[in-house]
Amino acid sequence: MQCPKCSGSMELVSYDKIEVDRCTDCGGLWFQPEELRALRDDIWMADYVIDSGDKSAGKKANTQRDYSCPDCNDTMLQESDHEQSHIIYESCPNGHGIYLDAGEFTDIVHKTFWDKFKRAPK
Ligand SMILES: [Zn+2]
Ligand SMILES: [Zn+2]
Repeated sequence: MQCPKCSGSMELVSYDKIEVDRCTDCGGLWFQPEELRALRDDIWMADYVIDSGDKSAGKKANTQRDYSCPDCNDTMLQESDHEQSHIIYESCPNGHGIYLDAGEFTDIVHKTFWDKFKRAPK
């Protein structure tokens, strides 16, 4: 599989039973929607394993928002995270996957972790 943004090659990284594609050039991550859901809800440590890409490369890649799904070639849709609206990512309109730039997954997961912490009963 090729990176939908920079055409670099994607490698498979796994955490627990979940496998995610990561670009060897820009560090972007390709998630199946259910994988992202599982990781952001349950395994906050996952970011250290999976989101190891260069954050400055991720910031640069984040300015590129017009590209196609590697599976179906449809134009990816922009979405903002429902808890942190400053995080913009793209998802396939047909549900093939969600693409996060390097560093974005860490952003999402950490907020979720601290939210859980704050919501914990006293
Ligand atoms: Zn890439
Ligand atoms: Zn697609």
